[in-house]
Amino acid sequence: MPATEFELIRRYFQDATRSRPDVLLGIGDDCALLQVPDGQTLAVSIDTLVAGRHFADGHDPRALGHKALAVNLSDLAAMGAEPAWVTLALTLPAPDEVWLRSFMQGFSELAATFGLQLVGGDTTRGPLTVTIQVQGLLPAGIALRRDSAEPGQRLFVSGSLGGAALALRQRLSGTADPGLALRLDRPQPRVALGRLLRDYAGAAIDISDGLLADLTHVCRASAVGARIALDRLPLEPAVKRLAEHGDWQLPLAGGDDYELLFAVPADRVDALRRACESIGEPVSEIGEVTEDGELQVVLPNGRLMQDLPHGFDHFRP
Ligand code: ADP
Ligand code: MG
Repeated sequence: MPATEFELIRRYFQDATRSRPDVLLGIGDDCALLQVPDGQTLAVSIDTLVAGRHFADGHDPRALGHKALAVNLSDLAAMGAEPAWVTLALTLPAPDEVWLRSFMQGFSELAATFGLQLVGGDTTRGPLTVTIQVQGLLPAGIALRRDSAEPGQRLFVSGSLGGAALALRQRLSGTADPGLALRLDRPQPRVALGRLLRDYAGAAIDISDGLLADLTHVCRASAVGARIALDRLPLEPAVKRLAEHGDWQLPLAGGDDYELLFAVPADRVDALRRACESIGEPVSEIGEVTEDGELQVVLPNGRLMQDLPHGFDHFRP
């Protein structure tokens, strides 16, 4: 007999994550009750993944459970927030318990890494859709806002760029490299780096839509421009080989990397580098914030790139 909604909730959600003392009431009532500590600000973000749009029907549910949470945690990281709580709205075509167990395994493993508690959600029937909202904590008055970049600050990115987009390209053409596929399926939110950046960076953003698109968001919000140099971009080796042949589409406009892009005052750069090294988070300086509102991309030959590739936009015609 198929499980009722309440049985599913009890079996798969109720104890999916560890309990936190700041959860006064978790799953089971009409609302969760959460205690925000004195002097802290709540940071909230939500993201939806739709089957056929953000992932293929038949996608490995465990990987999906990881990724759906990871993309949300990446938003908390980009704000410098400490992950605390999460809610999960699942729309399922059928109460498929094999699928659900596997999905919740991926979700719970990542939640455990960051001490996150699942405190509520909603379970409905319909086309497969995963919506996750995360809540994080920040010391009051401190956040890595994208509207605070200033001319002269140095631009950095974490990790490497273009790997997720190349993995997607390979998957669509049936030539997947399993190592690279992890970049697409198991993004690692840069939570520790985000926390560290509170002491060094002004603005930050996570790169979900591609470097240029997300850099443009920072520039618009801060009313500044930026100049970046292609030969400074940290690239996956396979992405680098394509770039050497002039294909910069993946690192500049490929989405799904979930690295952090951030601006650091010039006199903080050395200290920042040391701090990042001490927590094992590689970062690369890729350019600087400029005064005029333009985005300049310097080619390896020193010239400026003319036609900049676009990032991903759901509503672009
Ligand atoms: P209500 O009808 O009051 O909205 P529901 O029947 O939707 O309550 O859910 C009952 C309880 O189970 C609530 O506390 C809700 O937060 C929780 N819940 C439902 N679905 C999920 C889910 N997918 N993940 C986590 N908690 C869930
Ligand atoms: Mg409900």
